[in-house]
Amino acid sequence: MCGIIGIVSKEPFTSKEPLSRLKKLEYRGYDSWGYWNGKQLTKKMGKIVVYDDGTDVNLAICHTRWATHGGVTEWNAHPHRAGKVTIVHNGIIENYAELREELKKKGATFASETDSEVIAHLVEQGVNEKRGMETILKGLLATLKGTFATLIMVDGDDKLYAAKRDSPLALGICKSRMILASDIYAFSDATDKAIFFENDEYAVLTADSYAFFGADGQPIKKTPKTFAWTTVAESKDSYDHFMRKEIDEEPVVCQRLIVSLQGEQHDKFEQLVGLIRKAKKTVFTAAGTAYHASLLGASFLHQQGINAQAIIASEFENFITVDRETVVIAVSQSGETMDVIEAVKYSKEKGATIASIVNVPYSTIERMSSLSLQILAGPEVAVASTKAFTNQSTVMLALAQAFGYANGLEQLPEKLTETLQLEPKLERLAKELHHHRDLYVLGRKLGYPVSREIALKIKEISYIHAEGMMGGELKHGTIALIEEGTPVVSLVYDDDPKMRSSTQEVKARGAHAVVIGSTEHDELRVPAESEAEFAILASTVGQLFAYHLAKERGLPIDKPRNLAKSCTVL
Ligand code: GLU
Repeated sequence: MCGIIGIVSKEPFTSKEPLSRLKKLEYRGYDSWGYWNGKQLTKKMGKIVVYDDGTDVNLAICHTRWATHGGVTEWNAHPHRAGKVTIVHNGIIENYAELREELKKKGATFASETDSEVIAHLVEQGVNEKRGMETILKGLLATLKGTFATLIMVDGDDKLYAAKRDSPLALGICKSRMILASDIYAFSDATDKAIFFENDEYAVLTADSYAFFGADGQPIKKTPKTFAWTTVAESKDSYDHFMRKEIDEEPVVCQRLIVSLQGEQHDKFEQLVGLIRKAKKTVFTAAGTAYHASLLGASFLHQQGINAQAIIASEFENFITVDRETVVIAVSQSGETMDVIEAVKYSKEKGATIASIVNVPYSTIERMSSLSLQILAGPEVAVASTKAFTNQSTVMLALAQAFGYANGLEQLPEKLTETLQLEPKLERLAKELHHHRDLYVLGRKLGYPVSREIALKIKEISYIHAEGMMGGELKHGTIALIEEGTPVVSLVYDDDPKMRSSTQEVKARGAHAVVIGSTEHDELRVPAESEAEFAILASTVGQLFAYHLAKERGLPIDKPRNLAKSCTVL
C-alpha cells in the first residue's frame, strides 16, 4: 500500500519537492521511507521527514512503505538498487521467490528481504545485456506475477520509466515537468491534468514528453484528463489532529454532497436508482468502514422491499452469486482498495453491472464502473475514516429516499452540527473509560452496522479491544465476557424496548452501561427523527468518543500503528 513519487523536470529541484509530495501520500503507509536523486540514496525508518539536501537534480524517485514482504527495517525500505538501476515499488510480486533464486544463480546479491528487489535485478540484467529499456519493460510485464506500480531510474539515463498492474499510478502533467504518483492528491497543487495508467502498461518519460506502451510493446495513445481536486488539506489549522478537523467538516461536506446529488450528480444518481430498480439483486461490496456504510445501504433498501445485500469484498466470491441481473455497487473512499477491485473484477466476469461510490475521482474503481457517484468529502488525511463514512452513509440515505424511505436527508447537515455539541460529554466519558482493555458496542437493525463502525474506530485509533455486535446476539455467547465495570455502549433509537432490555441485561452483570439515544432522558442524545438519521448521527458520536479515548491514551491518532489508509494489496 506504499506511496510512490517520481519527478522528471527541466528546472532542477532539491529533495524538498519530491519529499513534500511524498508526505501527502504518507497515509498510504508509514513504516519507512526513502529517496534517490541519482547521486545519493536515503533510507529511513518511521514517518517522512521533509528536508532540503540543497542538491539540484532533474530526476528523482521516492517511496513511503507499508511492508508486505520483509520486516520494517531500514534495509527493506525502498528505493532498491542493483548495479546502475534504482526502483520503487507498490504492490506484491507473487513469483518473487522463484525469480530471486534464478537471479541469485546468475550472480545477483540481494540487500533486502522484500519481494520488490527482484525488479531492480531484472532490470539490471537487461541493462547489462544491453537490451533497450523498452524491451526490458516489456519483458518485466511478461515476467512479473502479482501487482505493481514501479518507477525505475538508470544511472546516466535522464528518463524516468514506469510500469503498472493493479496498483494505482497516475501521471501529472505540469508545464516543464512530469510527476508520477500513486494518486492525484500528490500533485493536485501543481496541475489539474493527469493521465491514469491502465493495467499492463509501461511508460517512458522526459520532462516534456510521455510515451505509453501496452504489454505487447505497441504504443498507446493517451489523452490527459482534467480533474477538479485542488483543495489539499495540508494543515490541521488549529486542530490537534486531522481526524478531529475532519469530523468537524462533516456538516459542510454532507451539505455539499446533498446539493450535488440534487444538481450536478442528479442524472447519475437517477441512473443508479434506475439500475437498482431494474436489477433482480443489488449487492454492495466494500471493506472496513465502507462496509459498514454498505450494510446501512443494504438495510435501507431492504426496508423498501429491494433485494439488497452487503458483502465484505475479500470474501465476496465465497458468499454470493452474482449474474447479469445483479447490480454490484462498490464502495471505497480511495477507489483503490484492492479487495474491492478483485470483487469488482469477479462480478464483471459474471456479467453483473458495476456501479461505485467513491471519494477520490478517477480512481481505479471509478474507472472500472459503468456508473460512479462521488461522495465529495474532500481529501481525508487521517487514516481512520470519518467524514467519508458520513458521506457514504448520506448517499445510502439518498438512495433510500428515492425508494420512498422518508427520512431527514435535508436536515442532516444541521443535525450533524448539533451532534458535535456532545463533545464535552464524550471527552469526560473517555477520561473515565480509557483505561479499559475491552469494550462492547450493541445495536439492532440500523444500529447494528453503526455498532460495528464505532467498535472499528475505537480499535483503530485507541487500540482498545472493541466488539460491535447485534444486541440480540449478546446473550448467545459474548455476555460471558461482561464483568464488573466492563464498558458497554448501547445504541437505542426511540426507546427501542429490545435495545433497552439488552442494556439492562449487561447492567445486571455489572457493566458500565453507556447509552447513545434519541430521547430526552438520554444523556448522550442525538437529534434524530428517523432511525436512519439516528444511525448516521450516532456514528459521529462514536467517532468523537474514539478520538477522545485515543487522545487520553496519548496515541498517534492520525497514523495508528500497522495501518494504512488505502489498502492496495490483497
Ligand atoms: N511488497 C513491497 C514491500 O513490502 C511493497 C509493499 C506495498 O506496496 O505496500 O516492500
